[in-house]
Amino acid sequence: MNQYDSEKLEGILSARGMEPAGSPDKADVIFVNSCSIREKAESKVFSLIGRLAGAGNGRKPVIALGGCIPTLRGKEIFRSAPAVDLLYGPDSLEKLPAMLEEYFYTGKKQIDLEFSDSTAWDGPDPCVRPSDVTAWVGIMKGCDNRCSYCVVPDTRGPEVSRPVESILAEVKALAKKGYREINLLGQNVNSYGKTLPGSVTFPELLGMAEEIEGIERIRFMTSHPKDLTDRLIERMAGSQKICPSLHLPLQAGSDRILEMMNRGYTAGDYLEKIRKLKSAVPGITISTDLMVGFPTETDDDFKKTIGVMEKVNFDSLYLFIYSRRPATPAADFDCQVPRDAAHARFEQAWALHRKTVSRKLAELEGSTVELLCEGEYGVKSTKEKDDALITQFGRSAGGHKVIFEAEKNLTGKILSVLVTRSAGFNLYGKPAAERNAHGRRDKN
Ligand code: SAH
Ligand code: SF4
Repeated sequence: MNQYDSEKLEGILSARGMEPAGSPDKADVIFVNSCSIREKAESKVFSLIGRLAGAGNGRKPVIALGGCIPTLRGKEIFRSAPAVDLLYGPDSLEKLPAMLEEYFYTGKKQIDLEFSDSTAWDGPDPCVRPSDVTAWVGIMKGCDNRCSYCVVPDTRGPEVSRPVESILAEVKALAKKGYREINLLGQNVNSYGKTLPGSVTFPELLGMAEEIEGIERIRFMTSHPKDLTDRLIERMAGSQKICPSLHLPLQAGSDRILEMMNRGYTAGDYLEKIRKLKSAVPGITISTDLMVGFPTETDDDFKKTIGVMEKVNFDSLYLFIYSRRPATPAADFDCQVPRDAAHARFEQAWALHRKTVSRKLAELEGSTVELLCEGEYGVKSTKEKDDALITQFGRSAGGHKVIFEAEKNLTGKILSVLVTRSAGFNLYGKPAAERNAHGRRDKN
């Protein structure tokens, strides 16, 4: 979400004639797009601001702090971090050019932390995207769930869905520019449409996006398990374009902990949804978010998390140590778990995940997978480049990253690759054939 906000911010600023400075020392203004989901993210931002205040070779740059920390901490930041000149929230991006102008004229610190009830993308798409192939498309903002550990409802405000027409117009424009994959983005995409007139649902939105010619792959995140419907599973099963891949955050395997988290499902409910997904969408890959060290979590609770991991065999995992966040119900729960115990659980869960992934990736060796090539490996994607062998990467529909070499730059092409080996979280392969615009395969 933050990455997407940065893409929007860059677009809004470039439309006003600002350009990237390349390094903090050359910048007139430095924008820091912050995250406050965990305490560590927050402390990193404040130490970064301390360092940035000394950039500019003696001429302090203007520092604008945006994202979730300002909406969480408010104007108090001007006192605790006096190097900050502007504070803006996730919904204030479009106001930033005017705030900057005001700052330059008056020298007065500026602040705008209002949540807006519009989705702010109703006009032309402002994003400057790092890829020419795959694009984030915001479909909603904010969150109306109240998971007991989470600051997002406070930092990003209430849930608001973006109108269907506005989303489809953006996807059509992306297809016209040559984008082949979209990733629909929201904190809980399964509740899409609730704030809109009429009764459009997320599976219906997916159906409309699938109709758009040129877009070959559709992904989305994040799905909340409590709102994942059979209708969505059917839609995924019946689609050529929706990728057989789902991010479904579990958080914990103990029902007692899930209830304290206010997640609205049990481990059994979660496993039943996974069973349905795996039987309706063969080969589907599942990724998840897990947290260890939630208040009162015992070894027995943690074993239940390990138990679910062993049953699901997650393809990808974001693993977190619980972080106590201000003004969340969990911050007041008794019996916060000692850091050492939480760290030990983190290591154990991570070791299991690595083992699972190594095994699953090794099983893919010798198979052929279809990739959408995203660009050169290690450098920003470019469309022109030939000669010699170019190291490139792409993703399978299931989301596996595959690195390969080819004579031509295949950015934006869909091609078959023979998987020759796996290492770490990546696969390596050799191109076999490239799919042309009509779905026929050409020898590469
Ligand atoms: N809306 C998404 C998650 C957004 S936050 C969902 O509900 O699934 C991304 C992840 O950060 C969460 O899934 C959770 O695992 C983690 N997270 C959120 N708050 C946290 C906290 N206080 N401590 C540790 N991890 C946290
Ligand atoms: Fe946070 Fe829960 Fe909302 Fe996700 S669904 S953003 S974890 S409150």
